[in-house]
Amino acid sequence: MKKLVVFTGAGISAESGIRTFRDMGGLWEEYDIMEVASYEGWQNNMELVLKFYNDRRKQLIECRPNEGHTGLVELEKHFNVHIITQNVDDLHERAGSKNILHLHGNLNKSRSTVHEDLVYDVDGWEIKVGDVCEKGYQLRPHIVWFGEPVPAMMPAIKITSQADIFVVIGTSLNVYPAASLLGYVPAKTPIYLIDPNEVASPWNRNVEFIYEKASKGVEILKKKLLES
Ligand code: NAD
Repeated sequence: MKKLVVFTGAGISAESGIRTFRDMGGLWEEYDIMEVASYEGWQNNMELVLKFYNDRRKQLIECRPNEGHTGLVELEKHFNVHIITQNVDDLHERAGSKNILHLHGNLNKSRSTVHEDLVYDVDGWEIKVGDVCEKGYQLRPHIVWFGEPVPAMMPAIKITSQADIFVVIGTSLNVYPAASLLGYVPAKTPIYLIDPNEVASPWNRNVEFIYEKASKGVEILKKKLLES
């Protein structure tokens, strides 16, 4: 089976009701990114950061995977599918995808502020000031904030460099180092990009654009891949 690597961003979850990051009406117009998604923000106002992610977690409970997520699961019948996602939601998991790598962490997990290897499932939707790890240190969201290292980049590069087909869905390719993954796609590997809006790709590569929302875009992609 050919290895189909799918790189997803906030756009694949938009039809599930989760707002994206930068596009019009995006979540971040209401927040100062550095206040809620950086270590400095955490040091300045832990309550605000916890509230921001608690709200996201509470909202996620109400959301369901959409046809973009489930369409990728169907592709597993024909391809060895690997998903590399920038999303912190669990909609790929809930749709039933098998191989998922989260580059930027997982909203439903917490981790110790001191012992980074102590990672826990969040019980319900809330992490509170005073919730501590087994060694007594405050828990924080298990999210990669701006300026923090991205430990999953190395495995993501390995998976990308072995791709027979590479698909990009719903990402503005603005966040680094995640966006640099495209530079590791083998030269002969076809790249498809699904997004209803124009995405400027800085790589000198032939990319087949599918200008659709994820649900319809994945359906079109499936037809293209199964016909070729
Ligand atoms: P982004 O907001 O920068 O870009 C979203 C892209 O999705 C845009 O190009 C937009 O045109 C496209 N889009 C909008 N609706 C779409 C649809 N229905 N179908 C397909 N595409 C659609 O998001 P990004 O590039 O993923 O970077 C944002 C960062 O914010 C990531 O690092 C991620 O961790 C975080 N984030 C995650 C979530 C989530 O987990 N669901 C949500 C918001 C932000």
